[in-house]
Amino acid sequence: MAVRYLDQTLINQIAAGEVIERPASAIKELVENSIDAGATRVDVVVRDGGRTLISITDNGCGMGQDDLLLCVERHATSKIPDGDLFNIRTLGFRGEALPSIGSVSRLTITTKQGQGEAWQLTVEGGVKGAPQPASAPAGTRVEVRDLFYATPARLKFLKSPTVELNHITDIIYRQALANPGVEFTLRHDERSVINFTKEIDRLNGILGKDFRENALDLNFQREESRLRGWISIPTFNRSNSSDQYLFVNGRPVKDKLFATALKVAYQDVLAGNRYPCVCLFLECHPEDVDINVHPAKAEVRFRDPNLMRGFIIAAIRDALKTMAPRTSSHLSDKALMVFDRPEVPPSAVAPRSAPQLVPSFTKSASVSPPPMHQTRLTMPTPGRYEPLAETKAAYMAPSPAIVAQTTASVAEFIRPEQPSQDHPLGYAKAQIHETYIVAETADALVLVDQHAAHERLVYEKMKQDLVNGLVKSQALLIPTVIELNSQQFSALQDIIASLSQYGFQIECFGQQGIVVREVPSLLNKCNIKQLMLDLASEIIERDTSTAVEVALHEILADKACKNSIRAGRRLSLEEMNALLREMEKTPLANQCNHGRPTFIKLSKADMEKLFERA
Ligand code: ADP
Ligand code: MG
Repeated sequence: MAVRYLDQTLINQIAAGEVIERPASAIKELVENSIDAGATRVDVVVRDGGRTLISITDNGCGMGQDDLLLCVERHATSKIPDGDLFNIRTLGFRGEALPSIGSVSRLTITTKQGQGEAWQLTVEGGVKGAPQPASAPAGTRVEVRDLFYATPARLKFLKSPTVELNHITDIIYRQALANPGVEFTLRHDERSVINFTKEIDRLNGILGKDFRENALDLNFQREESRLRGWISIPTFNRSNSSDQYLFVNGRPVKDKLFATALKVAYQDVLAGNRYPCVCLFLECHPEDVDINVHPAKAEVRFRDPNLMRGFIIAAIRDALKTMAPRTSSHLSDKALMVFDRPEVPPSAVAPRSAPQLVPSFTKSASVSPPPMHQTRLTMPTPGRYEPLAETKAAYMAPSPAIVAQTTASVAEFIRPEQPSQDHPLGYAKAQIHETYIVAETADALVLVDQHAAHERLVYEKMKQDLVNGLVKSQALLIPTVIELNSQQFSALQDIIASLSQYGFQIECFGQQGIVVREVPSLLNKCNIKQLMLDLASEIIERDTSTAVEVALHEILADKACKNSIRAGRRLSLEEMNALLREMEKTPLANQCNHGRPTFIKLSKADMEKLFERA
């Protein structure tokens, strides 16, 4: 078959295959154009999930007649003024959105530049009409009818209007967060879906009004890079990543690097299958990031991905460390809901001041609490096996140091006259079910899960010891020789030196083996061979030097869990108070290593609500 050039419409349809996947992607491109045009207001109207109509009206700079004719041509753009692909400051730059959309739909653009004339142009299935004079306000309106009518195969891939609308909403949410100075509205089938005027708090509108209450402010700068925004405290999490809003230089992105960085940063405080909610803006030098990776421009490539990943992890960990002892506000609401409160028949309620008859404890269906499995706070599984004698000695709960400290000032703990402001977790009053510590502060009741809390303390101490090189090395009686494949060998070779800081002594052995002579005594009963192989595969998979730390932390977390006070162990008041004081001093003490809360607080006001005193 002879080789020939494809015709323009076909070329545009091929491009559309990449750029315009569904109505939401057309809307993404058009909204980006409006923002690039300096619009301060963008109104989006869609019908049937965008299948029959998409209309986007902006008050941006508009176009003159010549530009209008050119803008629907492939590779025609006004946005790379100095021809430098690595210094792009607009959202668009490829000059392919309008021709692509025009090749698969019926496209009408009406536009007016300031006080100039208004012009209108249509493109149907790639066939361009002649510009016509029109009447319109300044700015641009782009109407897309019957998207994909010219490529019926694509049409078949569209989902229900509801699903398509969800994608559209997501696109506008992201642009609305990135552009707080621009008003956005979205109407679907005559119904208003989004109305973000300037006054509306978008973070509340998008992430929910309890997000901010449960979020930490983040503002971290290193050299030319800056990360700012909000991240949820670990106990406020989701089962998927849909509430993660990420931006690079004002551009919404969905990028693997961010996903990994978030995972690593939260690894200590969140179970692997849970996701924090975040809204984060990364600003860096345009030359440090390449956005020309994919036509949809949702992925980016960093010049030094390891550096950037490290920067993001450091920023998030830094913010997590500043967290004062608290758990998510919704937990106390949850707690309120599970209290099995007997219903008081209205007739039986006497005026507050008068003596009351105790009402009979009947429960009516209408006020029965929600099913327990939904709301009850879960406990970590009680210890499954005996801790190793030696680690037990080092980290047994409460540690000898804690007890010594405590006994020195027992009096202070035992009879506190006035719960002090300095002790946000208050003073232990009792232990119940040999599992929970009941403590009192000036204005709240605190319920602490002793196992979860202690697990965190043990873990943090172990980590600190690691960092400070306090973990003793122990020579293995018989050095362990490990044969590796070449990939594993080169992965481990790179980190042998850094492992010595943790108390490992490792040398290369033969062609591609290693010999482990000393290990941190903490890990002396560990299967060293398995550990080394795990480390190697982590490095191969994640391509990052945090693998060592991550792997060691995982081991420590596991050990911490096994070496912590069990549920079911009786504690003295001093021990309980010592635990509370340690929790207050310890970073991240408000959740166990799996992201479960270590304590909940029930304010006096909540209790008053519960008893209808308020
Ligand atoms: P790109 O955005 O990559 O330049 P597009 O095909 O999306 O490519 O748009 C082509 C050109 O049309 C833009 O460079 C811009 O000059 C012009 N244009 C598109 N939409 C608008 C708009 N809403 N307001 C003003 N000009 C626009
Ligand atoms: Mg564009």
